[in-house]
Amino acid sequence: MLRNDQLEQWDRESFFHPSTHLGQFARGEAPERIIRTGQGCFIEDRDGNRFLDAFAGLYCVNVGYGRAEIAEAIAEQARELAYYHAYVGHGTEASITLAKMVMDRASAHMSKVYFGLSGSDANETNVKLVWHYNNLLGRPEKKKIISRWRGYHGSGLVTGSMTGLKVFHDRFDLPLERILHTEPAYYYRRPDPDMSEADFVSFCAAELEALIAREGAETIAAFIGEPVMGTGGIVPPPAGYWDAIQPILERHDILLIADEVVTGFGRLGSMFGSDHYGLRPDLITLAKGLTSAYAPLSASIVSQRMWDVLARGTDEFGPIGHGWTYSAHPIGAAAGVANLKLVDALGLVQNAAELGAYFLAAMRTALADHPQVGEVRGEGMLCAVELVADKAARRFHDPAGKVAGAVVAEMARNGVIARAMPQGDILGFAPPLCLTRDEADQVVDATLRAIRATLG
Ligand code: PMP
Repeated sequence: MLRNDQLEQWDRESFFHPSTHLGQFARGEAPERIIRTGQGCFIEDRDGNRFLDAFAGLYCVNVGYGRAEIAEAIAEQARELAYYHAYVGHGTEASITLAKMVMDRASAHMSKVYFGLSGSDANETNVKLVWHYNNLLGRPEKKKIISRWRGYHGSGLVTGSMTGLKVFHDRFDLPLERILHTEPAYYYRRPDPDMSEADFVSFCAAELEALIAREGAETIAAFIGEPVMGTGGIVPPPAGYWDAIQPILERHDILLIADEVVTGFGRLGSMFGSDHYGLRPDLITLAKGLTSAYAPLSASIVSQRMWDVLARGTDEFGPIGHGWTYSAHPIGAAAGVANLKLVDALGLVQNAAELGAYFLAAMRTALADHPQVGEVRGEGMLCAVELVADKAARRFHDPAGKVAGAVVAEMARNGVIARAMPQGDILGFAPPLCLTRDEADQVVDATLRAIRATLG
């Protein structure tokens, strides 16, 4: 095995890490963490330090680490057939089986599934399909996409544009034209503290209506949203939000893309976030929980009404010009099949509902009296703790980000990994769906201790 100092030198010299302070990292001023192994909800670094990973990697290792069933399925597929493409009707047993398993879980109005590699490319596919659809319908001017401030939809050019977080736009010349943003369903950060939840839902709906009126419905193709906002702060919508938004989209013939990269396959305690909130999307974006990140794979599920138009288009114009070399990669597909079987066999959707409720209640109880905990919120196996300078006045820390970063660093010193969400002072939790009560208690305890040690 390579020595740690050797690895560290190579790492600092050679490795361009994503979402990292590049200068500090290269100069050795920012810490590195080299992970060696994982089992269940725990990971271990090369020095033997164990961490309870309360963010499941990047909310993706839903079945937990070290699942032999998935490792074996991957090895078996690699031995049998590591790769073949999916162009012009080619498939493998793994990719066809996974397509069937995904569609068996989707609601009846959905028709087919397209496989990619990452959440970003699946959203890129979805935007292209929306544009293609409107071209086929003879309305080439209907192309704009409405996303929400604080939404996260990926790091590409179009997907990074739809992402509504400043750090993903600034100095990257984003957002691109055609991408618009509206109010997020973030009740705690409502513009007027006196608004009730119902008032705030009406406000979000009115903002959307106003944007559509300003731009012209004939120019707007789709609305994209996460059922529960993830990277923007782990924010479940206020009651009635989706019920207020969907009729507006329907009235203006605007398609709905449900970005379920985080919420898909059980994280909310339902198979999909769309089922959880009664969404009727035309496209669903999936990734993370599809394989629990044992191999990269994403999916776009297309509704019947879109499929009919896309299929007619090929009768007129020939095969659709959209594909990746690695679409439906057999190793990813084999991982997906084994993963979804495991999700069922272990009852993880149910566990996400039950343990998630337990975890959220325990976190709320532990932090209820802390003057700098503004809100504890969550849904299923997602939870957020919003840290504020003054709870009574709902006053946020300035500059944002430092306090959450310090709390998360303190938690890591105590063996629990949470995530400081990128905009604001928000501690994010998204443990593997197999979390136990004991593990939930450990996370809550570490959070309380770290908040006290950092903020008093
Ligand atoms: N959509 C959502 C809701 C996400 O959370 C993410 C990733 N965190 C993406 C899209 C992009 O996925 P990827 O990082 O796999 O490209």
